[in-house]
Amino acid sequence: MRISMVSEHASPLATLGGVDAGGQNVHVAELSAALARRGHEVTVYTRRDDADLPERVSFAPGVEVVHVDAGPARPIPKDDLLPFMGDLAAGVAEDWARTRPDVAHGHFWMSGVAVLEAAERAERSGLRPAVLHTYHALGVVKRRNQGAGDTSPPEREPLEADIGRRADAIVATCSDEAFELRMLGVPAAHISVVPCGVDLAHFTPTGPREERGRDHRITTVGRLVQRKGVGTVIEALAAVVASGFDAELVVVGGGGSSDDPEIRRLRGIAERAGVADRVVLRGQLAQKDLPAVMRSSDLVVCAPWYEPFGIVPLEAMACGVPVVASSVGGLIDSVVSGTTGTHVPPRDPAAIAEAVSDLLARPDQRAAYGRAGRRRMASRYSWDRVAADTERVYLATAAARRSAGAMEGIGRIDGLRSRRRTRREGGT
Ligand code: UDP
Repeated sequence: MRISMVSEHASPLATLGGVDAGGQNVHVAELSAALARRGHEVTVYTRRDDADLPERVSFAPGVEVVHVDAGPARPIPKDDLLPFMGDLAAGVAEDWARTRPDVAHGHFWMSGVAVLEAAERAERSGLRPAVLHTYHALGVVKRRNQGAGDTSPPEREPLEADIGRRADAIVATCSDEAFELRMLGVPAAHISVVPCGVDLAHFTPTGPREERGRDHRITTVGRLVQRKGVGTVIEALAAVVASGFDAELVVVGGGGSSDDPEIRRLRGIAERAGVADRVVLRGQLAQKDLPAVMRSSDLVVCAPWYEPFGIVPLEAMACGVPVVASSVGGLIDSVVSGTTGTHVPPRDPAAIAEAVSDLLARPDQRAAYGRAGRRRMASRYSWDRVAADTERVYLATAAARRSAGAMEGIGRIDGLRSRRRTRREGGT
């Protein structure tokens, strides 16, 4: 198949860990590469955010990234990108006129808007690809959790519902998202659940591990945005230390600059909780450096308020490290409480402290959880498996699209015949 991915703000080429570069970038990059390994030709369209970027970049064997001019060629927060989606759609449609894709897969709601517009243009020349969409995050969930802190434009929620109605299929990444989509009115028959994956050759239990600064190390990894719950983990650390554990908390992600407001906020929490000397803010790290940090940790804690999927817990489990995770979103599916880690309620430092202290006190349990986590990742979450499952959805959707197109064609021919008959029989 010829596959088009559209990912307006999240390029496979971006540096991870900044405010707008995380799981979606990894998903698009790894899924595209794994689909190409299965023999497909993949083009990823993303917005040009730097004037010096070449138009086309070969990203991996069989995967090309195309930078489309859509808005100023500089980084723009994703919440301000909607006005440029018409230009993105035009650029994508222009490229499709040269090589028509069989399927077009939009990532994040604004790309969904662009894909549907590009598909409409292609339809006029009878070349509409099958349209699939993955939301990566839903506006309704974000607003529920962030309230006034949600900076999404007001168009987001109605447009997300519209994408759900008009796309040929939705690829949700977890069962919780599938429920949310049903509530948005997306037909169940259009929803498939395929999780994100993890690079099992990179994130492994064996290999280098960093030196720790204390007897115990707890680690969090992610974009430093408030909803990731790092503040809650810092508060929990204070209770863990108070119960007698000599523990440090390593925080990976964020810009690492001291004037970043989120870093200032986290430092304030650490100081008030009396654990400033135990919280190590490492800033952004490259993926190549993450396994050594994860392996050096007793536990990885993922404490988001909500989480559309969450690749970090997969990476920790693939490294054989148990995960203490909020029981929200994708973490409900990926972390098995009592087998690969422990679920806790979101925004609850006492619950995190209890789960962490319990596991710190039981090294055998941690080792068993770590082994089970690695087994779970190997059996279900390789990118090759994710690509095979996604491919099945693509094939079924493209086949359904072709037969819908054929039925429309038959409908058009029938209409023509009956108009001709009417004319022959002296009608209007
Ligand atoms: N990540 C990274 N370096 C960092 C912070 C994060 O490589 O400094 C990666 C992390 O390993 C994971 C991704 O960014 O692959 C974050 O994905 P996740 O789904 O956990 O969170 P999201 O960013 O989508 O909210």
